[in-house]
Amino acid sequence: MSKAMPDPAKASKKTLREKVGRVVEMCERERGPLHFPGERDPLPGLVQTLLTHNTTDPNAFAAYDRMLEKYGSWEAIHQAPKEELAATVRIAGLQNQKADRIQALLGFLKKTYGEYNADALKGMEFDEALATFGHLHGVKHKTLAVVLCFDLGKDVFAVDTHVHRLCKRLGFVPEKFDPVKTFTAMRELVPEGMSHQLHIHLIRHGREICHSRKPDCEACSLQSECRYYQLSGGK
Ligand code: SF4
Repeated sequence: MSKAMPDPAKASKKTLREKVGRVVEMCERERGPLHFPGERDPLPGLVQTLLTHNTTDPNAFAAYDRMLEKYGSWEAIHQAPKEELAATVRIAGLQNQKADRIQALLGFLKKTYGEYNADALKGMEFDEALATFGHLHGVKHKTLAVVLCFDLGKDVFAVDTHVHRLCKRLGFVPEKFDPVKTFTAMRELVPEGMSHQLHIHLIRHGREICHSRKPDCEACSLQSECRYYQLSGGK
């Protein structure tokens, strides 16, 4: 029989922190520990993450590759006619908006730092990164957290669609939270140094077991920590 599950709207931070900690341990036991593979240039990460909005990773990466193949440099991408750039990244969808956002980002980097490079992010923690880049459309909580965590190895827990769903179902945050509220709450709940690992574990769990429409609760190893399962019986 499952134990009583804390209500994330009422539970203390300590209770929720312990719960997240147990889920981290369960995931690490089941899926094995993960290690940050090493720092990467953050500019490709920023542009790729912009391209992933509202599409699949394969489509976003295909658009990124086509763009680099066609233009060959950040400067050429920045100077390209907008309609032409939009047609080049069309496979990622929302091509006009994405072309706009990519050129605005490149223009900001050139104007602010004198070159097409986002290395300034290496010296920033999340709040400074948001204060510096957050005025650019599409370069907000999720995009910056993904780049700081996955390209620069910082301890920032990124909340995308899958992670957001899992955080709510498991009962880390209230069901009514939006992704930004979830991101803010999780900053205080994820054990130190575990942001990268937990994000990847939850993404994999979401893809393999905790599907958006029909979670496979009977096959799930996180049942004992899942508020959705306790409240719904897995139905
Ligand atoms: S028990 Fe069901 S809802 Fe909960 S995490 Fe597992 S698959 Fe998702």
